[in-house]
Amino acid sequence: MYNYKKIVDDLLKWYDRHARSLPWRENPKPYYVWVSEIMLQQTRVEAVKGYFNRFIEALPDIEALATAPEEQLLKLWEGLGYYNRVRNLQKAAIQVMEDYQGLLPADYKELLKLKGIGSYTAGAIASIAYGIQVPAVDGNVLRVMKRLAGSYDVITKASVKRQMEEILAEVVPVRAGAFNQAVMDLGAMVCIPNGMPLCEKCPLAKYCIAKEKGIQMELPVKEKKKARKIEEKTILLLEYQGKYAIQKRREKGLLAGLWELPNLEGKYSKQEMLSILKEENKRADVYELGPGKHIFSHIEWSMLGYHIILETPIEEKNYIWVSKQELQDTYAIPTAFSIYLKD
Ligand code: SF4
Repeated sequence: MYNYKKIVDDLLKWYDRHARSLPWRENPKPYYVWVSEIMLQQTRVEAVKGYFNRFIEALPDIEALATAPEEQLLKLWEGLGYYNRVRNLQKAAIQVMEDYQGLLPADYKELLKLKGIGSYTAGAIASIAYGIQVPAVDGNVLRVMKRLAGSYDVITKASVKRQMEEILAEVVPVRAGAFNQAVMDLGAMVCIPNGMPLCEKCPLAKYCIAKEKGIQMELPVKEKKKARKIEEKTILLLEYQGKYAIQKRREKGLLAGLWELPNLEGKYSKQEMLSILKEENKRADVYELGPGKHIFSHIEWSMLGYHIILETPIEEKNYIWVSKQELQDTYAIPTAFSIYLKD
């Protein structure tokens, strides 16, 4: 079995010189580490910085997060996607207020009891914020480790991840947070996911079996993803007297409970839209906003959009009518609709 202990010193030396300067690293409060790690699960570091600063300014501590109105929470998360993550963040904050006197527990197993915190996030918080010697293993860490070992294990298997956690639990040094962040940084900047890793800049090149054998691009091995389901939609930017219609999505499923633009299943031509309006005795101007595409993890929306300026109102109890300003400032509209909300 590959001996990961030998990489520790060189990796830490490299980290001391090359660590990325990130807002949550300057002051690694447990709350900051937690929020940043949840954000980083879905977005690149560069994009997260702005979201992180905005979030912390609005909700500076766990108590503020626990008591924030849902609309504010979703607005702060707007554009990051995976809205259940921020809902879970709040549920966990409430758990922390009720069960842990408002302090994130300095204990890996206790952290795992909190909503939305899995082994990676628990490991990151425990090691970075509390210096506890536990690993934080995600896809990036697995990529680096499997390349070092020249291993063809399928990293998308839960058993492979669990095994790596067990192996690294024996390797993580006293500087646990630095070690875990060093692997994260190496994975982001040197042993990169797409394209050829920058082995010539890698502090671990001399220990790397993938480099030695020239198989870096074959590793890591992942299970093939299932093809995405394509859903066709017609998106309606309905305007009446300077206000726009939005409605709430169902409480279950994709984008649950979020606000959205009204939409129809399937794609309708402009002629068909005009006919529908005529049948309903509505006078309106219809402008084409063109096609759009949005990719979720398992589903792809293939869309057509129309800006419909109504001269007669629509009585639809699910709609609320809001100004452009309110759309920008108050309501979190998923990114999928954003191309139809541009000026
Ligand atoms: S030598 Fe190359 S493949 Fe190996 S860990 Fe470093 S960057 Fe990754």
